Amino acid sequence: MTTELDRAAWTAKARALDIRTQAFIDGRFLPAASGRTFDTVNPATGAVIAAVAEGASEDVDRAVRAARRAFEAGSWSRAAPAERKTVLLRLADLIRAHLHEFALLESLDMGKLVKDAAAIDVPGAAGVFQWYGEAADKLYDEAAPTGRGDLALVRRVPLGVVGAVVPWNFPLDMAAWKCAPALAAGNSVVLKPAEQSPLSALRLAELASEAGLPDGVLNVVPGFGETAGRALGLHPDVDCLAFTGSTEIGKVFLGYSAQSNMKQVWLECGGKSPNLVFADCRDLDAAADMAAFGIFFNQGAVCSANSRLLVQRSVKDAFLEKLVARAEAIRPGDPLDPASTMGAIVDEAQTGRILSFIADGRETARLATGGERVRVAGAGCFVEPTIFDEVAASSRLAREEVFGPVLAVIPFDGEAEAVALANDSPYGLAASVWTDDLSRAHRVADRLHAGTVSVNTVDALSPQTPFGGFKQSGFGRDLSLHALDKYTGLKTTWIRYRAESGD
Ligand code: NAD
Ligand code: MG
Repeated sequence: MTTELDRAAWTAKARALDIRTQAFIDGRFLPAASGRTFDTVNPATGAVIAAVAEGASEDVDRAVRAARRAFEAGSWSRAAPAERKTVLLRLADLIRAHLHEFALLESLDMGKLVKDAAAIDVPGAAGVFQWYGEAADKLYDEAAPTGRGDLALVRRVPLGVVGAVVPWNFPLDMAAWKCAPALAAGNSVVLKPAEQSPLSALRLAELASEAGLPDGVLNVVPGFGETAGRALGLHPDVDCLAFTGSTEIGKVFLGYSAQSNMKQVWLECGGKSPNLVFADCRDLDAAADMAAFGIFFNQGAVCSANSRLLVQRSVKDAFLEKLVARAEAIRPGDPLDPASTMGAIVDEAQTGRILSFIADGRETARLATGGERVRVAGAGCFVEPTIFDEVAASSRLAREEVFGPVLAVIPFDGEAEAVALANDSPYGLAASVWTDDLSRAHRVADRLHAGTVSVNTVDALSPQTPFGGFKQSGFGRDLSLHALDKYTGLKTTWIRYRAESGD
């Protein structure tokens, strides 16, 4: 399906959307038990998109009970892996068949450019379901080396009910990163999307049902963190909780587990990922292109955004000039207009948070470009691409995650200083290195505390490689076969048999 629609075509399709607004529990749409709803708002215009069921503890409980029932019934948990593959591949195809609809839901709900959602987010989610679908019937278990008379089978078994709580920056992709491996392994899932962006998850659950997923296996409860998210975190019958979001709330989930049933908790949290540009990088134009992409893509709301630029002093001025030119070519605009180069910030609260970092930066560093909130057609939450130079490594701007289009530039002189600056962070999610010295690339990549180090690119990522961090960026990995470790447990079945026939 083409992604090359113009603004009028996207706008017309947006008007024609039939939006799902209720919780999806046990294979059907339901209002919240309380009857309450909350508005989800388009941050580009301030307009209310829809009133969505406000799930809370009773709804979470209903969803967990449905999930448990489905798990025990076995129509999914004990289905042949090849059957699970068929359903997940069908779901991948259905996501692709609804490319425009999903792209619009993402864009309207959280402000990203519809062309990016159509080119990146939606195909990405379909690809993840496809990847785990294909993997489902290709994973072998183990037989332990026990000797004659004993046969010990070591198998990976699903855990049961998986709770997934995800953020607003890539609503569909984050849902896919959790649900696809959890479902491929045979679990039931209760997903709570972010309150800022509940719409795509509801449609995903409906299409999963259409693809053949049995009732109760995937449930979606929209609602707020402090109510619906908390109820899932504290639920005594949830076996595993997979979270993507802030480090602050990640820590809260560890507490929920301790206070309830010791459920496994897996955390993908924040970052302050460094991008190291050495003077021996020969293609500084490519480095500048990717440095700009690394911080301004998705309005900077990327957990692995390259938000700290560490640049060798001898090339700093030349590099910064290139980067500022690129930043100034990126202008916030109508997310439904394919000519726009940056979308809207998710909501007023996040816009305010970003502006407070910018206000701080004006006091402590040198503003190289940007720094203003803008409105598009007189409305909306938009912030200019912003770059601060000469940022002190100890400042708030260098240490805390902004989750917005704000870059902190920190100069360095030598390699050891660059590595020390890069690692001086509570986070350890991603890092990038630009150099044409092969030895330096390996040396520096080796020393950086990051789940992924990209060399001569930024934010390298695919379903084939694990994604996640060290330190307070979390633990456990999304994507790749390693993600299955989070959603399965090892089970030993030890069989003793008579080694001699006795004939
Ligand atoms: P957030 O932590 O506020 O919210 C994430 C989710 O947790 C939402 O669904 C929210 O409703 C829920 N939640 C909030 N408070 C809760 C509570 N008290 N109890 C239970 N649930 C609660 O994060 P956000 O602002 O939505 O997203 C931005 C953050 O997500 C950033 O810090 C970013 O780095 C991080 N992120 C990380 C990754 C990753 O893979 N490491 C990916 C994307 C985003
Ligand atoms: Mg919204």
